[in-house]
Amino acid sequence: MLTPLSDRVAIVTGASRGIGRGIARVFAAQGARVLVVARSAERAQPVVDEIVARGGVASAFAADVVDPAAQEAMARAAAERYGGVDILCANAGVFPASPLAELSPAQWDEVLDANLKGTFLSVSACLPELKRRGKGRVVVISSITGPITAYPGWSHYAASKAGQLGFVRAAALELSPFGITVNAVLPGNIATEGAEALGEEYSRQMMASIPARRLGTVEDIAYAALFLASDEASFITGQTLVVDGGQTLPESPAALAMLQG
Ligand code: NDP
Repeated sequence: MLTPLSDRVAIVTGASRGIGRGIARVFAAQGARVLVVARSAERAQPVVDEIVARGGVASAFAADVVDPAAQEAMARAAAERYGGVDILCANAGVFPASPLAELSPAQWDEVLDANLKGTFLSVSACLPELKRRGKGRVVVISSITGPITAYPGWSHYAASKAGQLGFVRAAALELSPFGITVNAVLPGNIATEGAEALGEEYSRQMMASIPARRLGTVEDIAYAALFLASDEASFITGQTLVVDGGQTLPESPAALAMLQG
């Protein structure tokens, strides 16, 4: 049993849907008071309503992770509403595809800004509050794409997700004197609204490449994040936790095919 998060305040960015919504729900179910963050408070509100209906404590906050002032306002809101910030889950991210030959500098910036700079901005905005509490937790949602695998059309995305890991390691080192741990979850293919938009064929193809023979659920990621956010994970920092149903394991297509035979 993990120690409940009853006296903890958690911020989850990108929590209006998908993985962030799953994390917000699981953290709230474990007792945390959760600031549900997305670019639009209207889109975040149904997640809050869902949490409150189950007896949890949560509220919505509109903040774009690429806007430093909005990130600072987000940390302030958590402090004003709930007394501080114990856990930051830097989950917000985008994954538009574009072949390298057609990738414009603006498209590159859009993805790097949201996924990598946004991670930095949310962490740095929450830093004063995390330091004040003395045992802060930062959980960054990266990906297998970039750190481990690749897919044509996602060079900017892969760079942003691999970049997050360099950030996680350096931040973990720098923040350890303050009792703050910084770790990353690397999801494989997870059934979310964002992933669904990539089309049925993409999902089918991914499912066929996962030894577990299913896409991941948002709860699969949320429970990994919960562990890294727990008291029990206090000696784990700068690390990555792959949650992919074994997708990165087969050494060859034949190895995967043997499982079907
Ligand atoms: P979705 O597209 O389903 O949801 C993305 C969430 O992020 C939404 O709540 C969106 O809310 C929010 N968001 C997007 N841009 C910003 C921004 N600039 N500022 C604040 N919030 C933002 O994505 P997933 O749930 O699928 O992915 C979540 C994270 O998990 C991402 O970092 C992604 O890279 C990672 N991941 C996902 C995988 C998957 O298979 N689904 C696999 C590996 C990693 P709104 O539009 O309301 O602002």
